[in-house]
Amino acid sequence: MGWVRGFEVWTTPRHVLAYVLVVDALALIATGSTAALLPVTATDWIRLGILAGCVIAHIELSRSIERARKLASGAGPFVDGLTVWHFTAVLILPAPLATALVVFTQTYVWFRVWRGRRPLYKWVFSAATVLLATQASAVLLLAAPGPHPGIPTGWIGIGFILAAALLRWLINYSLILGAILVSSPDLRAGQIVGEFGEQVLEAGAMGIGLAAAGLVEYDPRLLIGVVIGLYALHRSVLLPQFRRASQTDGKTGLYTPNWWHQIAEGAFTRAEAERTSLGVLMLDLDHFKRLNDTHGHLAGDQVLRAVADAITDAVRSYDAACRWGGEEFAILLPDVGPEELHEIAERLRHRVRSLVVDIPSDGKVTDQTVSIGGARYPSPGIASLSDLQLAADAALYAAKAAGRDRVRLAPPSI
Ligand code: GH3
Ligand code: MG
Ligand code: MG
Repeated sequence: MGWVRGFEVWTTPRHVLAYVLVVDALALIATGSTAALLPVTATDWIRLGILAGCVIAHIELSRSIERARKLASGAGPFVDGLTVWHFTAVLILPAPLATALVVFTQTYVWFRVWRGRRPLYKWVFSAATVLLATQASAVLLLAAPGPHPGIPTGWIGIGFILAAALLRWLINYSLILGAILVSSPDLRAGQIVGEFGEQVLEAGAMGIGLAAAGLVEYDPRLLIGVVIGLYALHRSVLLPQFRRASQTDGKTGLYTPNWWHQIAEGAFTRAEAERTSLGVLMLDLDHFKRLNDTHGHLAGDQVLRAVADAITDAVRSYDAACRWGGEEFAILLPDVGPEELHEIAERLRHRVRSLVVDIPSDGKVTDQTVSIGGARYPSPGIASLSDLQLAADAALYAAKAAGRDRVRLAPPSI
């Protein structure tokens, strides 16, 4: 029994466990009660086999991309393209076989993508949400005009398809949202709801699922086109989305230094060629170690996030800010005059100074200060991006040496 006791589910808080178990049980009940609604024919079995083949091809072609994407997608609901086949199954298979395809898909994904990487109970839960959503839309489709199972006919049929898709999405999304809410109630709303783009993907997947259902009825061999299309989609749409995620710093939501550097190089080249200006500000929080020592690292991280938000607020929309490392930040400011650079730096300093950061169970952090160094191109002696950064760094050092909580710009700007 040792391995059962080792399940991560036992270390899960009670209320989360209760929620998960209720959803799992509902899924079982729903699956059982739709099982006998329609007879299963030989054609249905063949179609199930064909869809299972598509699922295998789809997973095998996209599994490394999906894993990377899931890891980068943060806490919000995550959409995978397999919805395509689940929705196809809802439309053209009787409920028990649609269920079988969902279970097959989830099991196959578990073994090929997630085994050892995600706790089993989370996987069971996500299977349960898909099952519940599947049963609900299957039952709704029974009321639609046309063959059962089969694609509903006429415009009323289209209405039923849209309603089934909406119902499926609503159930799935709200159950997952509920799970995120009970397990991490203090996430920010944006993190909980996840990216809107992900939900557009879900709608798109069901759209493709509808087309695939039509192909199954017309000539299932044509499904190969859908599989190839999905593969291309993964590579060209979903992978870049993952890359974007790798451009943001997880702790603060600002850019990563690598990505910032790429933007900065482009901006410097442009400033040189077009004879425009470019500013760089380097920020380093004052006595941050002390804050960590008194309030702990978690509080420190909260302050970092608050500072990052303050930076985003204080700069112009086309400036680019990154967490340079630790408690240091770098900001790139295209087309900036010397006075304006100084003004923005002072604004930043004041914003940070007036931050009040609530630390749960440990009061508030106030009067965190920051030292800021800045430099601007064109200036004598600055011929490259690294010259510009070095000058800003030296100015930051001067600000620290002069007593902290101040702005210094590299001469001769101000
Ligand atoms: P000053 O800059 O004013 O000279 O003093 P400081 O104490 O801020 O010194 P320094 O910039 O050298 O120290 C950086 C400290 O920031 C060390 C570490 O405790 C803390 N730190 C770095 N990265 C993180 C992080 O990601 N989270 C937290 N909580 N603390 C960090
Ligand atoms: Mg530092
Ligand atoms: Mg510091």
